[in-house]
Amino acid sequence: MQALRDRLSRITDLNHAAAILEWDQETYMPEGAEESRARQVATLRSLSHELLVDDATLNLMESASPESPIDQDLIRITRKDVEKATRVPASLIAELAIASGRSKGAWQKARATNNFGIFAPHLEKIVDLTVQHAEALGYDQNPYDALLDQYEEGMTTAEVARVFLDLKSQVIPLVKKIADAPKLDDRAVHGAFPEDAQWAFGIEVAKQLGYDFHCGRQDLSAHPFSTAFSITDVRITTRVDPSFFSPGFFGTLHEAGHAMYEQGIDMALEGTPLADGTSLGMHESQSRLWENLIGRSKPFWSHYFPQAQALFPEVLGKETLESFYQSANTVAPSLIRVEADEVTYNLHIMLRFELEQEMIAGKISIKDLPNAWNDRMESWLGVRPSTDSDGVLQDIHWSLGAIGYFPTYALGNLMSTQLFDAAKRDIPNLDSLTASGQFADLLGWLRTHVHTHGRRKTASEILFDATGAPLSSASWMKYATKKFGDLYGF
Ligand code: ZN
Repeated sequence: MQALRDRLSRITDLNHAAAILEWDQETYMPEGAEESRARQVATLRSLSHELLVDDATLNLMESASPESPIDQDLIRITRKDVEKATRVPASLIAELAIASGRSKGAWQKARATNNFGIFAPHLEKIVDLTVQHAEALGYDQNPYDALLDQYEEGMTTAEVARVFLDLKSQVIPLVKKIADAPKLDDRAVHGAFPEDAQWAFGIEVAKQLGYDFHCGRQDLSAHPFSTAFSITDVRITTRVDPSFFSPGFFGTLHEAGHAMYEQGIDMALEGTPLADGTSLGMHESQSRLWENLIGRSKPFWSHYFPQAQALFPEVLGKETLESFYQSANTVAPSLIRVEADEVTYNLHIMLRFELEQEMIAGKISIKDLPNAWNDRMESWLGVRPSTDSDGVLQDIHWSLGAIGYFPTYALGNLMSTQLFDAAKRDIPNLDSLTASGQFADLLGWLRTHVHTHGRRKTASEILFDATGAPLSSASWMKYATKKFGDLYGF
């Protein structure tokens, strides 16, 4: 058992070393290092892959005598990982790593210069390799199933399509109702918000929520993300807009939510492949919970608004708690997913979910992607991007080869309200605790029911055990209808 643990720890170290290089690429690496960095990441990833699929790992699993329930889970889940990994040739893994390393740089240039042509050949290559990847992974009905399963184990394309259809049929009338109601003013989040003060305020609030900066840090990057190199080193990035409060502040809360999940994993799992979020949907439920259910709530701002007012007197000096709360929660169809409001957000996800399936099925050619994107934005949300930087080029995911990833964002929204409802049942004074800036009870509840398990339980198991119900859109719809009904007066 100890020999197996040692081997898995070396594999985990290689993966985390690769993750540090990737974090560096997004934050501090000079542009010229793109090619060498892609090679270095590929080297580490392929070494890790080779160690995992080597007969020695299988032999150790055969001969190991598990001494605890954690050991049993370690063997059970590693067996699954090995099985999945052996289906994919090491050469394909390396090719994907090299292609995504190059493509990430091309995406950054394309986005900065609004030139889809720079990114298109890289995306073609990525899609081609991703189709090969899906074939190697295997699937029952739809190659997209294999891709989705990498991020949300056990979830199928058909199931997601069903949940999304259900959601879509209810969100569109809600958006329509809001559009018919008098508009809310969002002036209180726009204006002069000095970057230094935004940065410091975001970090201070993240600390108070429970993100441990002794084992974490925040840096700038074009696209915010969180990443973990161990339970004791979980980092976040953000971007700050000096004339718009929301992206920086709520971005920090969002990423801190991801980071607190990783920081809350049972230390007994440290150094093993179990020390990770169980699925991306569950991960997103944690970021969304802190960003939206706490961070955009009235009780939260009844505590923090006076502090924000003191920090940003130029804009907030003449505002009230009510006007600020409204400004932070306006609903308006917009172009950028990461800045979208809570109600329209899921439509951004469904757009990507459809286009990904079409790309993988070869039903759309890459050169037609910008137009297909813009047409659907116009027909679903009533807004049309005037540049590809604000359209098809806005997200980093496809450049990383992460196809099948987007649906997990909407699944996370649904899980977040289900978990929050359950937490409220167990902590009846949750709102008054939030209103006094006390988050330890909520974080403790999430640690117990979600974080501590790492990968020992699946997302469906965690959700069912914590809430007593399976995944559904009902809780989110009820939350959104109440919150935005109150805000928009219906
Ligand atoms: Zn997220």
